[in-house]
Amino acid sequence: MCGIVGYIGNNRAVPYLLEGLEKLEYRGYDSAGIATVENGRLRILKTKGRVSRLEALIASERQSPARIGIGHTRWATHGKPSDCNAHPHESQNGLFCVVHNGVIENYHALKQTLQAQGVTFRSETDTEVIAHLLEQNYDGDFVSTVRKTTAMLEGAYALCILCRDFPDRIVCTRWGSPLVLGKSEEGCFIASDVSALLRHTNDIFYLDGNETVLVTAQGMTFFDKTGAPVQKQSRHLNLDVSAAQKDGYDHFMLKEIMEQPKAVGDTIRSRITKNGEIAFEDFHLTDDEARALQRITVVACGSAYHAGAVGKYVMEKLARLPVEIDIASEFRYRDPVLDAHTLVILISQSGETADTLAALRLANEQGAKTLCIVNVVSSSIANEGGSVIYTHAGPEIAVATTKAYAAQVSVFYLLAGYLAQKRGLLTGDAFRSYVRDLLALPDLIGKTLNDCRAQMEALSQMFIPLEHAYFIGRNLDYACAMEASLKLKEISYIHSEAYAAGELKHGTISLIEKGTLVVALCACSAVFPKTLSNIKEVKARGARVLAVATDAENAALSEVDYKVILPNVNALFSVSLEVLPMQLLGYYTAKNRGCDIDKPRNLAKSVTVE
Ligand code: GLU
Repeated sequence: MCGIVGYIGNNRAVPYLLEGLEKLEYRGYDSAGIATVENGRLRILKTKGRVSRLEALIASERQSPARIGIGHTRWATHGKPSDCNAHPHESQNGLFCVVHNGVIENYHALKQTLQAQGVTFRSETDTEVIAHLLEQNYDGDFVSTVRKTTAMLEGAYALCILCRDFPDRIVCTRWGSPLVLGKSEEGCFIASDVSALLRHTNDIFYLDGNETVLVTAQGMTFFDKTGAPVQKQSRHLNLDVSAAQKDGYDHFMLKEIMEQPKAVGDTIRSRITKNGEIAFEDFHLTDDEARALQRITVVACGSAYHAGAVGKYVMEKLARLPVEIDIASEFRYRDPVLDAHTLVILISQSGETADTLAALRLANEQGAKTLCIVNVVSSSIANEGGSVIYTHAGPEIAVATTKAYAAQVSVFYLLAGYLAQKRGLLTGDAFRSYVRDLLALPDLIGKTLNDCRAQMEALSQMFIPLEHAYFIGRNLDYACAMEASLKLKEISYIHSEAYAAGELKHGTISLIEKGTLVVALCACSAVFPKTLSNIKEVKARGARVLAVATDAENAALSEVDYKVILPNVNALFSVSLEVLPMQLLGYYTAKNRGCDIDKPRNLAKSVTVE
């Protein structure tokens, strides 16, 4: 998420910080700020909005002579975008200040403890706890204070820290969020990705997880996770700035596909408490309230609607509540029947989708409970919803969603488990094993991506000349088929249809002829034998079939033409693996057809018109 920069050297720091922040703007952000050390004091300037606004703010102040500084572009996860939530954040007595990328999962407990000790918080962020902890843990040694502090943190962080007592050094560390460093004749540079360093050097030091680095104008000293000094080699990169902004990937879409283990991990882990319970920051039901619910209606558009379709299957199965899913542009003009016993769940990555926002207002007016699943903090839908659960997917830049969809689906797994437990339907060992499987999901996603990427690139060859393709599946596989079909058509412009596999023979099967390509999604074990029969039906009419299934069904798929085999997984979570080869299929097909993958024709990222 967002960006960190730092500079210490022979020249004035502020111009370097601003230039670095501009290079990181592509990552998406909502506020910006810098801090320098001047005359024995930390000086912080920060603002909601663009780096250009920060520049204007700085220009209106006296020029800073400081030769040391840190900077940040924030992509809010905790607390709305605002001047006071912008980074850097300062400790109670102004001894430390910090910029942070990531999410501190245990910030709430830490904040409560600090408040009980009399610390006053100035922002709503999770980050601020770090600044106060640094001051509390201060032992006169900058590096050891940072290490003591990070030992108390759970979650993901890249940190760049200044201390008033040490005007000649910056300390950085990371876990889960990236940080890179470089050195030139002008001094040392720190950034969250190489695009902000490449103007100064192509020799990059990559900070590993749990490593700490002490940076001075002369150079860098690295410490390993035990605190022992380590020698680190730089890596020479033959990259220009534009490639680096995609972290070496050809497109944002592929980068975001590969970021899904983190997006899903960040979304899930911060909602599992130390006691293994599921808890949300802003959505709470008592057992009685959960039992009194009579119905859930999920309202969304596009891929968010497909995430809702996964939610329907999982919530009905576990929480035994009837769940309807509705397209927002239909729902809002349909005079839906809602009441206080209905939970209306609205999903939108941007939080600004016009039809979903209108549907939310309608549901609010009619007295339903509303819950919004949103990626962008403090967006309109997040602000107007009764409650909000944020997906911690980070900024998504490619128009075709991948990691935000994956994070939305993960929220439904959490919600289904939460509601089922409150309604007394998933308890004890069964609940614990559900949570364990959920926590194992990010690694399985990572494994699946690594295992199938090359295969999907090869399989995409046969899709390149196609005019039509069909995706079939039942139950959760059907929910996945809808998303798979949309992924292919929206970026490669191949006409594709998703069908519930059992529905095919009620009309559409007349389109199947020799050579038609049918992708059969069959990871959902409960209906596998049924989907297998449908595969046989289309094969009998000449179709070529590409099947996607888990290893458990591998042997039964002897008749298909091509198959992608996924690791075995809790059947309720199968979509989270199954969708991955489908995203890659869409990506590589579009790439080989020469399409504009990150900005497909006629599409916009945030659909703010109805
Ligand atoms: N979680 C922090 C916040 O909301 C940092 C977000 C970021 O990575 O920019 O302020």
